[in-house]
Amino acid sequence: MKTPGVGMKARITSVVRDVQDPEIAITLYDLGVLRSVEMSSTDTVKVVLRPTRLACPARGRMERDVRAAVATVEPMLTVDIEWDVAPWATADISAEGVESLRRDGYIASSLAPVKCPYCGSVVVKKAGSFGGSICRLPWSCRRCGSQFDALHDSADAM
Ligand SMILES: [Zn+2]
Repeated sequence: MKTPGVGMKARITSVVRDVQDPEIAITLYDLGVLRSVEMSSTDTVKVVLRPTRLACPARGRMERDVRAAVATVEPMLTVDIEWDVAPWATADISAEGVESLRRDGYIASSLAPVKCPYCGSVVVKKAGSFGGSICRLPWSCRRCGSQFDALHDSADAM
């Protein structure tokens, strides 16, 4: 196969950064899950992902989506996916990511105080202990009545 140049790495990085989270309308890059994309040899790309939770059931889907994205650029490459065990935190979400989450009806709990993503009210309360997935908790807004999920740091006591 041809020697990967800077151009190929840039194209791979670009498509991997566009991979969406399986559950929320946000890229893994903006969510802070995608940590790095490196050519570890001429025929292997190493992708480091930090899951929002180590037990996140969406990990298999994320791996498949990253492999599929790399294959659109160079199908012959081996994709070596490494799961980073460092705790993911909502502070890892990019500014664009926070905006994407807000548009999709989510907030990140580190952005204290928790605000309703729909009306901006801070008069909100936790609505339970279990959200749509293990990294989310349900909240409700007392002003507009909306329900929304907050993403919590993996270090937070649930
Ligand atoms: Zn509201």
